[in-house]
Amino acid sequence: MPRILFILSLLGSLVTAAEPAKAPEPKKEKPFTPGGVYREGDMQRPRPTVITPPSESTAPSDAVVLFDGKDLSKFKRVARKGDDPSEVPQWKIENGYAEITPKGGQIETLDKFGSCQIHLEWATPAEVKGNGQGRGNSGVMLHGWGEVQVLDSYENDTYPDGQAAAVYHKYPPLVNASRKPGEWQSYDIICECAKLDAKGAVVQPARLTVIHNGVIVQHAVTIDTKVQEFGFGLQDHLNPTRYRNIWVRPLHERDEGAVKAEGTK
Ligand code: MG
Repeated sequence: MPRILFILSLLGSLVTAAEPAKAPEPKKEKPFTPGGVYREGDMQRPRPTVITPPSESTAPSDAVVLFDGKDLSKFKRVARKGDDPSEVPQWKIENGYAEITPKGGQIETLDKFGSCQIHLEWATPAEVKGNGQGRGNSGVMLHGWGEVQVLDSYENDTYPDGQAAAVYHKYPPLVNASRKPGEWQSYDIICECAKLDAKGAVVQPARLTVIHNGVIVQHAVTIDTKVQEFGFGLQDHLNPTRYRNIWVRPLHERDEGAVKAEGTK
């Protein structure tokens, strides 16, 4: 090799040797998720509880079944004034549903619930009698919250804050998603109790969401109540409305990150 090339080659290898060894790239931390407790994709984050979702004939595995078509033993009767005061429910049970009977009275859950999802199915009489508030009137009477109206609102005009899926005299539904008289309809009523501070002051008001036949008709409307546990009744409004497939499941606690993100427990 010519001397000059040899020198250049030697210099080249010296330069290469002098290059500092590259420090390993510091591992990039992933950004935090809302709340600043867990990072994105954190495998340490608690796993949501596994449940079996509902089928057409079964409730979700974490639900309390209040009526499965057999008996109303999870309810007590509240008679109208002057009627037989028995607390034993007297509604007619047949073909997997319970139907309001004359002097049947309101029925009320024996259990109380905190924040929860209430599922029930109902049908107003197939034979249409009356109009306005007189057609298939009943209701889900949430103690301390108010009534989610049950009514035949299929081509049956009435005041909007009293039609089916209204929070009675508070909020009309966003749309009228009613089926025809006699057809089965469903409600999923999601009750989020008010969040209170240590002194009992409201940090976040109670919120109510209603899904009627799969359609959202009340979306987190606020209700002026501090109740943390409540039962509910099914109203006897003198019309033979039917109910079936009634269950309630608790809204599960959110993990620490989600709680901190919202700033309330
Ligand atoms: Mg009613």
